[in-house]
Amino acid sequence: MIFTLPPLPYAMDALEPAMSQETIEYHYGKHLQTYIDNLNRLTEGTKYSGLSLEELILTTTGPVFNNAAQVWNHTFFFNTLTPDPVEMPAELEFAITRDFGSVEEFKVKFKKAATDIFGSGWAWLAQDEAGTLHIIQESNAGNPMRAGYKPLMTIDVWEHAYYIDYRNRRAEFIEKCWGLIHWEKVAQRMHDDILIAHIADMAEAKAGKDMDRYVCITCGWVYDPSEGDPESGIAPGTPFKDIPEEWVCPACGVGKEYFEKER
Ligand code: MN
Repeated sequence: MIFTLPPLPYAMDALEPAMSQETIEYHYGKHLQTYIDNLNRLTEGTKYSGLSLEELILTTTGPVFNNAAQVWNHTFFFNTLTPDPVEMPAELEFAITRDFGSVEEFKVKFKKAATDIFGSGWAWLAQDEAGTLHIIQESNAGNPMRAGYKPLMTIDVWEHAYYIDYRNRRAEFIEKCWGLIHWEKVAQRMHDDILIAHIADMAEAKAGKDMDRYVCITCGWVYDPSEGDPESGIAPGTPFKDIPEEWVCPACGVGKEYFEKER
């Protein structure tokens, strides 16, 4: 797959004065472009070509991961900002109040988390599988989807995000950035079930877990990885392939070779 610079959803000067045209020209036009060029160079003609950004983020490490995640993170970040901020939708306000106490407390906690990241990184608002919201600090190219969270909002706290406009004043940049957040988009992302399912699938693939059930062809007993076979010392969550060879069917005593994947 050849990755290309995603469109910026507003004009280069649209976020002034909080984010200057010069910052956008460098941050979007040069930094993001460089991550894209690096990613293409690292993946073209390799086993990684053809994989999506999400697949690369969830299954690789090192330079491929760093560049894929930086492309995803920046695309997401620029698409989280708007020159025409809208009020926070009630459902998002509800979830934030439920999980952080109030919108104001959330802002205080998020700003602290973003300001406190040591060195380069990203502060995220992300949602777990149960729907609970979390503030997550990530270093460098980190992305919370690797830990199974769905990203909802982020602020880039690499120096390149603010040094032109704010020099070393990261906290002031975060405060001004807050006024650019497109809360309606953030709220919509809470319901992006396709992304949730994709992340769950990829996390499972990454773990290399085959959670299929296997049936004993002799007696019909079914091995369910989510239950395991605790009486024989097989913990719940053990894929069939990871069961030791000496294990036998607890119902009829035949070996593993007499099991086949349930259809
Ligand atoms: Mn950046």
